[in-house]
Amino acid sequence: MTELRTLKVALLGCGNVGAQVARILIDDADTLASRTGARLELSGIAVRNLEARRDVELPHELFTNDAEALVKDADLVIELMGGIEPARSLILTAIRHGASVVTGNKALLAQDGPTLYEEADKAGVQLSYEAAVAGAIPILRPIRDSLSGDRITRVLGIVNGTTNFILDQMDTTGAQFADALAEAQRLGYAEADPTADVEGLDAAAKAAILASLSFHTRFALEDVYCEGISSVTAADIAAAKDAGFVIKLLAIAEKLTDPEGNEGVSVRVHPTLLPREHPLAAVHGAFNAVFIEAENAGELMFYGQGAGGTPTASAVLGDLVSAARRIVLGGPGRTETTTGHVPALPIDAAITSYYIGLDVADQPGVLARIAQLFAEHGVSIEIMRQTIHRDSASKSESAELRIVTHRASEAALAATVEAVKGLDVINSVTSVLRVEGV
Ligand code: NAP
Repeated sequence: MTELRTLKVALLGCGNVGAQVARILIDDADTLASRTGARLELSGIAVRNLEARRDVELPHELFTNDAEALVKDADLVIELMGGIEPARSLILTAIRHGASVVTGNKALLAQDGPTLYEEADKAGVQLSYEAAVAGAIPILRPIRDSLSGDRITRVLGIVNGTTNFILDQMDTTGAQFADALAEAQRLGYAEADPTADVEGLDAAAKAAILASLSFHTRFALEDVYCEGISSVTAADIAAAKDAGFVIKLLAIAEKLTDPEGNEGVSVRVHPTLLPREHPLAAVHGAFNAVFIEAENAGELMFYGQGAGGTPTASAVLGDLVSAARRIVLGGPGRTETTTGHVPALPIDAAITSYYIGLDVADQPGVLARIAQLFAEHGVSIEIMRQTIHRDSASKSESAELRIVTHRASEAALAATVEAVKGLDVINSVTSVLRVEGV
């Protein structure tokens, strides 16, 4: 048998994901060599603390504090340190020294992806990041490669396991947000500081990446409208459930024409009502899923574990083998194309259905007045349900009105809600949530 060439692999970081990547590189070396056509030799692992205990037993001599030297002497670099610096500088050094790079660092890609992609293109090396969106789920390569002969029209993703776990807990147990968050923290699904997850920032970084690949245009984090789940109440969830919906935090990227006729892409993250029969409604616990609509392929759904050391390592290794194969075959392929040039539309241009909860006076003619006001603003009502609450102690009555609209623009909806608030028969607007999948 001919001797296989050896490619040096530098690993930056040996935490949850890095340790599993190192384990697989060592344990599955022969399999990886047969799949790649080259031996992938782990040349070193850069960490902060050389003495720290690792999840996996690894040869001590592989560890180093000198990430820079390691990177300069590698054919392939895997960045699993996280954060912006020194990850960014080390990736740039790797690229400029001709190494292809695999990373799972969505925060860095969302903040400064374009610089990295341009440098990789200039150097003729590959920059891959399957692990950055939805952990183990192969989603970026299907979008970039398998669907490259089609036109994607819409992407809906549950791309943050922590928030999906919290909303699922609220839906199945009736818990309030704070209690569901505490449970997520107890089980290790949420960090001590859960801000990046619950405020939608992690999902927004992934939305920017999904939108960029789906619409062949670079979208940055500031193009993504972002609303988290911290204001979703148990009452919102119960009312949604009652009306046949489930609330999910969705990352949405879709092609739209705004009211002035401008074509663009709306990229947004917000709590969204989905009909309970929608495939994404069946994504429970900390699982992730991405639902894609394409002109020719139709509807596709990708489902799996969105985080965790070993599942995420699977995505990293897939990227590594792919990058190594290209070195073996000679020359990298294009990592992505950015010839789409579609503008990112502001949230006002988003067109969707809405769920509106109102606390109203129980008087004759109220429903007709509200319906007329919606019609005057060009927002048509699909479902209107009234529930009367009788308090036997005080002998008082109040009415709760739940409205689901047909698709309307954010701008029209916002104007309608403002006008509704001004009606003397309205006690309060209890919720306004967007609905997808109807
Ligand atoms: P982690 O457990 O915090 O591990 C980070 C590793 O990087 C540690 O080994 C740390 O060294 C090393 N490191 C950090 N800063 C360093 C520096 N300045 N110099 C040298 N080494 C440094 O992180 P992780 O959970 O494995 O995540 C890694 C990346 O994958 C992140 O970008 C994350 O967003 C992404 N990702 C993670 C998951 C997941 O499920 N965890 C899923 C998808 C994507 P010490 O150990 O010595 O401190």
